[in-house]
Amino acid sequence: MKTALICGISGQDGSYLSKLLLTKGYQVFGGSRDAQMTSFTNLARLGIRNDVQTVSININDFRSVLQTLLKIKPDEVYNLAGQSSVGLSFEQPVETLESISVGTLNLLEAIRFSNLPIKFYNAGSSECFGDVGSLAADENTPFRPRSPYGVAKAAAFWQVANYREAYQLHASTGILFNHESPLRPERFVTQKIVAAACRIAKGSYEVLTLGNIDIARDWGWAPEYVEAMWLMLQQKQVDDYVIATGQTYKLRDFIRIVFESVELDWQNHIRIDPVLFRPTDIAEGHANPTKAHKQLGWSASSNVSDVARLMVKAYMNQTV
Ligand code: NDP
Repeated sequence: MKTALICGISGQDGSYLSKLLLTKGYQVFGGSRDAQMTSFTNLARLGIRNDVQTVSININDFRSVLQTLLKIKPDEVYNLAGQSSVGLSFEQPVETLESISVGTLNLLEAIRFSNLPIKFYNAGSSECFGDVGSLAADENTPFRPRSPYGVAKAAAFWQVANYREAYQLHASTGILFNHESPLRPERFVTQKIVAAACRIAKGSYEVLTLGNIDIARDWGWAPEYVEAMWLMLQQKQVDDYVIATGQTYKLRDFIRIVFESVELDWQNHIRIDPVLFRPTDIAEGHANPTKAHKQLGWSASSNVSDVARLMVKAYMNQTV
């Protein structure tokens, strides 16, 4: 039986990855900053709360990371922990940099120091690319991040690449484009839209206030993306991969699909507030996930319409 440690298990991806690894017969340990206090509602929603063992681990603290690795001796470590909101990173840049960049470095250094044959996955981000216009970014596209979050993710990416080259660690970064699910909290714009549309459909008179709805992104379905993470660690040849659908839509398209699914005209229910515009933003994000398709045999099955409708359905039924 293989053992996996998932740092950030309480989050969206950590919960779906746990479910996937359990179905593959893994023993799953999940790290949270305070496992005693965290409620792990996402694991509960997926019906797997009692199937994983949770541990307190703070990836910003080297001692805590090393101790956990030496105790659990995992075959695979997935680093999904850290401040994950681009918007919040403008307000908490230091916390963002420390949790993402120093956190990843602590994990790499602890793996190296422990001498254990651990395979390591790092949660990279398309935010590293910055504004590439209509160019579809792939693994060779240079990074030019436009947020504290993107800068931190870029630093973590190069730390992983350096440890792989310098110490021959089996360490990969998945450069993931946006992926959504019913487990997304409402501070992320997709769930904010879904939640408001559903409440309005059920009788609420609220107005949905949004920032720039002309941004364009590649949105996928989170449960499919965790499969790509696992596949990366099963490869003999260690490498980094862009994970995305390969299709880009404007946020206004996502809004339209969501409101149409509850039989409403979105234009009657939203208000644009420039206060919500980010200091610097990425106008368009385009992805070329060909390498993942060719080498991992992975490709996205769900497109933006599927994602929007599945999220609406889950919110309306309050199921996952
Ligand atoms: P979530 O925010 O849902 O989960 C991240 C987890 O990290 C939280 O549950 C929390 O666990 C922990 N965490 C939060 N803040 C901090 C902090 N300041 N220091 C240390 N730990 C912290 O993220 P997702 O599941 O959506 O994403 C997983 C990873 O993938 C993240 O690194 C994210 O940046 C990255 N990513 C996500 C994308 C997406 O579209 N979802 C796209 C590209 C990359 P706890 O409170 O239990 O400690």
